[in-house]
Amino acid sequence: MAPPSQCFDATMHGAAHNGAAPAVADAKPQCPTVLDADVFRRQGHQVIDFIAEYYGGMGDHPVHPSVTPGFLRNVLPAEAPSRPEPDAFGSALRDVRDLILPGMTHWQSPRHFAHFPASSSTVGALGEALIAGINVVPFTWAASPAATELEMVVVDWLGKALHLPESLLFAGGGGGTLLGTSCEAILCALVAARDKKLAEIGERRIGDLVVYCSDQTHFAFRKAARIAGILRDHCRAIHTCREDMFALSPTELQAAMQADVDAGLVPLFLCATVGTTQTTAVDPIGKLCTVAASHGVWVHVDAAYAGSALVCPEFRHVIDGVEAVDSFSMNAHKWLLANNDCCAMWVKRPSELIAALGTEQEYILKDAASEGHDVVDYKDWTMTLTRRFRALKMWLVLRCYGVRGHGARRREVRGGDGQAVRAGVLPAPVAGEVRRREDGQRAQPGPARGGERGRPGPIHELRERRRRLHAQVRRREHAHGGVPRR
Ligand SMILES: *Cc1c(COP(=O)(O)O)cnc(C)c1O
Repeated sequence: MAPPSQCFDATMHGAAHNGAAPAVADAKPQCPTVLDADVFRRQGHQVIDFIAEYYGGMGDHPVHPSVTPGFLRNVLPAEAPSRPEPDAFGSALRDVRDLILPGMTHWQSPRHFAHFPASSSTVGALGEALIAGINVVPFTWAASPAATELEMVVVDWLGKALHLPESLLFAGGGGGTLLGTSCEAILCALVAARDKKLAEIGERRIGDLVVYCSDQTHFAFRKAARIAGILRDHCRAIHTCREDMFALSPTELQAAMQADVDAGLVPLFLCATVGTTQTTAVDPIGKLCTVAASHGVWVHVDAAYAGSALVCPEFRHVIDGVEAVDSFSMNAHKWLLANNDCCAMWVKRPSELIAALGTEQEYILKDAASEGHDVVDYKDWTMTLTRRFRALKMWLVLRCYGVRGHGARRREVRGGDGQAVRAGVLPAPVAGEVRRREDGQRAQPGPARGGERGRPGPIHELRERRRRLHAQVRRREHAHGGVPRR
């Protein structure tokens, strides 16, 4: 195959775009004419400059726009242009600057404190550009062998970087994939568990299946349960309390499961969380797995946000007992410098995922090169056929920042400057760390869930810290006449 430099040779003049007669396909017939190298370079530079300027001026915009619903729809034409105007790209970019940016919430602003962060990095953004430029669809191994194999390599790299057990990695008989979001990961895991259970007890008993979570679990799980056909009143959201730092109690879980068994129902699935959305509570994985195992229940760990903290070995203890889980997922796009979207999911027994989500090989998806080989066809690991080449971005991010680099970034946030606020509420153990640092003590691996009864715990202190930082920001804004300073 021609190397890119040859392939995007200047002999191609974008005939398709400018209406001239198509270039004669003589010298390099293998080269597509969809990409005009000169136009691409010019527009590419415009976009890179645009993004660089956007970041440079981020602090000039209010983080949240003061607009009312319909503000943009009222100014844009109701129909797409039938022909492009002259310099359509430049004029569209100007509209992005003048019409669209002023109506955006600036998630990358250092003063954006809502939700969990959507982390981005130079390499993450450029990785996205590479993915879009190369534009392959790796649904089977044969559909893009290197994309599939890079994904296998990178999920093992990432799993090792996060100190996950070998049994979840390809290297240990498990395996992982890169999906868009945690909502997808949780649904895929649940569907695998459901079909495994129904194969044992018979499909007709789907109405007997019961799933478990805590009252802090992300709504993604309830949604997944609905999609997977679990009855609405068979989703047990077990009550948590402040004294337990809002962690799911193994005793309560055991009681709930036993009550369901006694009622003739079938416990199916537990969604445990490391870093809940409300308070970043951490469920005690090991003890919950012991309870779940006694009822033949699949355990999934949703570590969408806080999972990134596991690059720091000193936080590995928050997932103690993780060897017993069936599946695990985290969003690298929340706190691991991989721009949207990138959710990594690992399963201990890929065959169960494939049994639920695999499709009969259609004739057009068969390929002689993979025939007879045990290859991974990632379309069988998720709901969709078309998939993105996310592995390329994740690989670049891990390669260019390194595992230690990622650890350093997490610790920076832990250090408790403005970034701590930007990162939202930190995981409970991280919050404990902030407290120790504030006390001027050396950071030590702390208890996963602190907070003795009746005494303010790390979350309280973090809120207090947040309040102080917000007050600081407000004072600063006031001092600068309301214009935020970067
Ligand atoms: C963000 C988050 C989710 C949802 O993640 P998506 O990738 O948006 O689906 C689920 N669980 C937790 C704990 C989260 O923080």
